[in-house]
Amino acid sequence: MHINFIDLKKQYERYKEEIHQAIFSVMESTQFILGPEVAQLERSLSEYTNTKSALACSSGTDGLLLALLALGVKAGDEVVTTPFSFFATAEVICLLGATPVFVDIDPVTYNMDSRLLEACISSRTKAVIPVGLYGQCADMDEINAIAASRGIPVIEDACQSFGATYKGNSSCNLSTIGVTSFFPSKPLGCYGDGGALFTNDEELAMRMRSMLAHGQSERYKHRYIGINGRIDTIQAAILNVKMKYFPSEIEERLNVARRYNEGLKQAVLEERIVTPFVKPDRTSTYAQYSIRVRDREAFVQRMKVKGIPTAIHYPVPMYRQEALGYLNIDSTKYPVTEDVSREIVSLPMSPFLTKDQQDYIIEAVIERRD
Ligand SMILES: *Cc1c(COP(=O)(O)O)cnc(C)c1O
Repeated sequence: MHINFIDLKKQYERYKEEIHQAIFSVMESTQFILGPEVAQLERSLSEYTNTKSALACSSGTDGLLLALLALGVKAGDEVVTTPFSFFATAEVICLLGATPVFVDIDPVTYNMDSRLLEACISSRTKAVIPVGLYGQCADMDEINAIAASRGIPVIEDACQSFGATYKGNSSCNLSTIGVTSFFPSKPLGCYGDGGALFTNDEELAMRMRSMLAHGQSERYKHRYIGINGRIDTIQAAILNVKMKYFPSEIEERLNVARRYNEGLKQAVLEERIVTPFVKPDRTSTYAQYSIRVRDREAFVQRMKVKGIPTAIHYPVPMYRQEALGYLNIDSTKYPVTEDVSREIVSLPMSPFLTKDQQDYIIEAVIERRD
């Protein structure tokens, strides 16, 4: 049986005609930069998340960078975040000369442990960046409350959680600024790089809008130092097609996750694996369906032999990355991150995973070895 880790091909086959039409129409118009498709995408993103402003940009990473730029984060500042995420979350902080301060993760959700946040905030803290890892939002109420009591803005890294809900509200609309990514393998992906910023603050929206186009206030007049952070019109056109099917794809992802939960239940009870725990007041997009296993190397090998692709999100915590070695961070301060990064492994996940494929995967995962 052939199984893809993420089935982008099947998705393309399904929407092919409409996607071709959308791409050709941009080429015919030759409005490759900020064509009407970009404004259309922003309207549907704003509507979908119920935020006042949605700004399409060039990637999730650039979105995070723009959020920090708009908040005025600079050299000497500190930004508090999680050590267990994709590298970009910490990278943008360092790129601005600021220092990332890491909070250990919650042992159940693997998101920033909000109980440890307060102790990591100092007079130099200029922002907090919780991540909605694997598609489940962090404890945003607790995090927002702690940050608000110090007057610190919160940037939600929703690169994996666009489409998730938290206490009935949409991810990306839970704090000062929300940022998502349309990298092809994310729940809503384009055919290259893309991302978006969300805010209800008009002043911040204006600044981010300007900063994603070189800080221009009007043509060739530059009010701020910004970046070239626009999304391509072609990518926006592709996203406009995919946006129509996104809610039903999210439903399919939930169905796939439920089938995994059910099929793997016995192995969980026997404490051979740990499956994802989603808190009852929120939903996950299952950007990844990640489980914990004791001997990961053997597990990955066993899956590989059976033709089942797996991936590890993420094997190396931020404070162990070579590029961040200059921070000289003591890894013993992060016991939960240490354990989880050793045991976590992601199973194939896509709205197009068939029941047969899933049964085959489940059988392989629960197979007794003794
Ligand atoms: C993918 C991802 C990013 C970066 O997004 P890009 O669009 O690839 O730049 C940042 N943070 C998290 C948590 C991500 O998963």
